Amino acid sequence: MAIATINPATGETVATFDAHDDAEVERRIAQSHDAFHALKGTTFAQRAEWMTAAADLLEADVESAAAMLTLEMGKTLAQARAEVRKSANTMRFYAKHAEEFLTGRELDAPAVNASRAYTMYQPLGVVLAVMPWNYPIWQVIRFAAPALMAGNTALLKHASNVPQAALYLDTLFERGGFPDGSFNSLLIGAAKVEGVLRDRRVVAATLTGSEPAGRSVASIAGSEVKHVVLELGGSDPFIVMPSADLDKAVATAVTSRTTNNGQACINAKRFIVHADVYDAFVEKFTAAMAALVVGDPTADGTDIGPLATESGRRDLVELVEDALAKGAVATTGGTVPDGPGWYYPPTVITGVTKQMRLYAEEAFGPAATVFRVESAEEALFIANDTTFGLSSAVWTQDADEEARIVAGLDAGAVFVNGMSISYPEVPFGGVKDSGVGRELSVEGIREFVNSKSVWRG
Ligand code: NAP
Repeated sequence: MAIATINPATGETVATFDAHDDAEVERRIAQSHDAFHALKGTTFAQRAEWMTAAADLLEADVESAAAMLTLEMGKTLAQARAEVRKSANTMRFYAKHAEEFLTGRELDAPAVNASRAYTMYQPLGVVLAVMPWNYPIWQVIRFAAPALMAGNTALLKHASNVPQAALYLDTLFERGGFPDGSFNSLLIGAAKVEGVLRDRRVVAATLTGSEPAGRSVASIAGSEVKHVVLELGGSDPFIVMPSADLDKAVATAVTSRTTNNGQACINAKRFIVHADVYDAFVEKFTAAMAALVVGDPTADGTDIGPLATESGRRDLVELVEDALAKGAVATTGGTVPDGPGWYYPPTVITGVTKQMRLYAEEAFGPAATVFRVESAEEALFIANDTTFGLSSAVWTQDADEEARIVAGLDAGAVFVNGMSISYPEVPFGGVKDSGVGRELSVEGIREFVNSKSVWRG
């Protein structure tokens, strides 16, 4: 895939970038390795100062950075601004909490015949991050802020369609004061990841993206005995039970399905609705989805911009057409509009069965499936009848039912009477094919450290 900025609203190639050649990749790995030796000796207070300065710079750049995100991947400007601000806040969060998160603990010394026994956390070295285009700044920051605060250095291989974001991030941390090479972007295609990951100086990797990419990186890391964190796809369920506040559930369902033009891993994708409220839910949900404004992502008032790539729209079209051909019904949407840009309308599909690809595969765009169920048990069965297990939501006012459903969902998170959102304070990650490991919160910063046990006689 060419490394290029292609405006998804027009299909026009705005800029192309030469990939780094092998010598430049080597230079950047070596610089990152050298920077680790400089960074690991610094204090949390020093790194916090640099991280906070970088957060301030990012926030000051909010308008230009947001415009860049909208240009490269089509999210609305309002959502792009929110992404930039959330990223800056997460940098400040780790600047403030890294030391407390990485303070070791005293162990039971007499039990192990020691005068003292304790644990400590130390950085690992150069960590490779392979990142997607859907949140070009946020996805990187939620890895880089904890990794750098822990004292690691980072190499970023960003998605090929967001090179301007990659280059912006390449200098952000140095502008904040981090030593040269603490964070380096590599402008390389996916085929070059293996060579970087097998380099002895690269000690671990994290990948956010699709399942095939995750499997590939994990198998290479496994063969090199390197730690890996994977944040992969999701087909999150959103369960609505009879006691739910239906209007709130519908409004939240719309936001949860369409945020980021429907291209978030934690967008709710499958709406599983109890028969008692199914007809009302479908009617209200369809009307609200149909009322969304699809169009120019730079315009005020636009709810949904174009999908980020032509191939992404083709994948979504194929998924929906497969379901419609096998008897599912689109209560709104389902057809590609004429004209330039990779737009796709908000779509609601009912009557989905196991024979349809949409039942099991992730719809990465604003297409929702709605299932009718007779009980909480059936809701749980459908919710869990997928290879994914990222996040989930349940709407109910019944405490016993809530407890049963929360316990029964195979997912990395459950949001009750709300929608899945990532927060720096809340651990994030999946089970099953949605990934391994956790990002954010204390768990995220402990992924790329050596938890060292110390015993003194
Ligand atoms: P993708 O095709 O897997 O791309 C993600 C990154 O992986 C890009 O940098 C890509 O580089 C690289 N890549 C692709 N194939 C690779 C391979 N075989 N080896 C090494 N690197 C490889 O995914 P996407 O289409 O950009 O993103 C959509 C997917 O990401 C969805 O499934 C979504 O659910 C998931 N996602 C998950 C989370 C989460 O936190 N769980 C968050 C966001 C997105 P190129 O661009 O050069 O191909």
